[in-house]
Amino acid sequence: MAHAHPGLDFSFMTYERQLIESHAWLALCFISLVLVMAGLELLSMRDGLAEFLFDATLIGGAAMFGWFAWRRYARIMVVAEFIGDQAYCPACTHYGFRCDGAQHASAPLSARCPKCGHRWQVEQPPGM
Ligand SMILES: [Zn+2]
Repeated sequence: MAHAHPGLDFSFMTYERQLIESHAWLALCFISLVLVMAGLELLSMRDGLAEFLFDATLIGGAAMFGWFAWRRYARIMVVAEFIGDQAYCPACTHYGFRCDGAQHASAPLSARCPKCGHRWQVEQPPGM
C-alpha cells in the first residue's frame, strides 16, 4: 500500500491522524461551549414554556456533548504524551521511532530507531 507521504511509516501516520482527530474533538468542544452560552442567553420564560424547554434542552445537550468531546480530546492527548515519553531511543537518545508494518493495537509497539537501528518496545497506556 502506498502512503500519502513517502518515507513516513505506519506509526507516524497513525500518530498524525490521532492528533488531527483530537483537535477536531477540541473544536467540537468549543462549538458546544458556544451553544451552551447561546442557550443561556436565550433562556427565558418570556416566550412561553415550549421555548424555555427547547433552550434548556439545547443547553443540556450541548453541555453533555461538550463534556464528551473534551474527554475524547483529553484521552487522545494522554495517549500521545504516554507514547511520546517512550519515543527516545535507549541507545542513542534520538527522538522518534519507526514501526515495522501494522501491529496489533493492544500489544506493545515494536519500535526501531531510524538513526542507529536499535529496537525496543513502546508500551500502550494502561486501560487503553
Ligand atoms: Zn538510536
